[in-house]
Amino acid sequence: MNEQLNYAPCSYLLLAENGRILDANFMLLQLLEFEMSELKGKSIQSLLTVPSQTFYQLFVLPIVEMEESVEEVYISLKSKTGREVPVIMNAIKQLNDGGITISCAMIAIKKRREYEKVLLAAKKEAEERNIAKKKAIQELNGLRKELENKQQELIGMNTMLQELAMTDELTGLHNRRGYSEKMVECISQFNKTGNPFSLLIIDIDHFKKVNDTFGHPIGDQVLKTISQMIQEKIGGEDVAARIGGEEFAVILGEANQREALEVAEILREYVAGSLWTIPTVTISIGVATATMDVTEQSIQARADEALYASKEKGRNMVTHAAEIYM
Ligand code: GH3
Ligand code: MG
Ligand code: MG
Repeated sequence: MNEQLNYAPCSYLLLAENGRILDANFMLLQLLEFEMSELKGKSIQSLLTVPSQTFYQLFVLPIVEMEESVEEVYISLKSKTGREVPVIMNAIKQLNDGGITISCAMIAIKKRREYEKVLLAAKKEAEERNIAKKKAIQELNGLRKELENKQQELIGMNTMLQELAMTDELTGLHNRRGYSEKMVECISQFNKTGNPFSLLIIDIDHFKKVNDTFGHPIGDQVLKTISQMIQEKIGGEDVAARIGGEEFAVILGEANQREALEVAEILREYVAGSLWTIPTVTISIGVATATMDVTEQSIQARADEALYASKEKGRNMVTHAAEIYM
């Protein structure tokens, strides 16, 4: 073996065609802790780990046979003390004076293995972090959903509370607050479009007598029944409210004077014409329709005046404010 090959920065092994070791350079002997005399004539298989023996026989050798060479084969050698030595190997088949030989050049890949181990560990750690991240995101999403549900619940409760704050407990109609809100809406709409709206103020006639004669609970029942009757006869966009003890307001969102009078008359007739378990209950109604510069106070004052006129005329009557100022 020439000096340069003996100490080249790679391990070198020369095999006979049948796989017997003919020669090895110093670097290989040092790597595997053998003396040349211990290897000479032995099979290459004695230098390989068990899995590598199979790999060499079934993969490396057939390729060398067919293609005369093989490149970058990862294979594990076995040192004299049984230590595994992974190497990367190139082999070439050559025809010399002495017959066919196979030259193998090998480089130990201990470092690469270590890098691979570090890389694998890093990959595993990254995967674990990824799983933890996904889990955290899932948990976060769950919490967000929970929060959304709670918010939704809160909004629902808030809406319910708002409705409750605007509702009259006894009759289920709007209370004065709900009435005022609707009035503000109607006035703003009227100022934009000029389409009139009307207000009915309804008062039960001689209601004190009902209470005095039949008792307060029956009086309450009458209030409820009249509320239902009002609800039956107005449109879905109209608003009915109880604004006093036995006094109601109806805002007809899209009714002019004639239409408002029609609704008022229908209501008056409906109440007066119903079969009551007590002597007939009647209502008096004052009607006012929005005019220029309308305010909540002005339209209500005019409806009140019209109501007063209905009472004056003998009750169970409908009066429109416009009739008073004629
Ligand atoms: P008018 O025809 O002039 O309206 O006579 P009225 O008796 O209806 O009017 P008045 O204002 O003298 O009496 C209203 C009565 O309404 C007095 C009160 O006892 C009764 N009232 C007010 N709120 C309630 C209520 O919530 N329940 C009952 N049962 N009665 C009520
Ligand atoms: Mg009354
Ligand atoms: Mg009254």
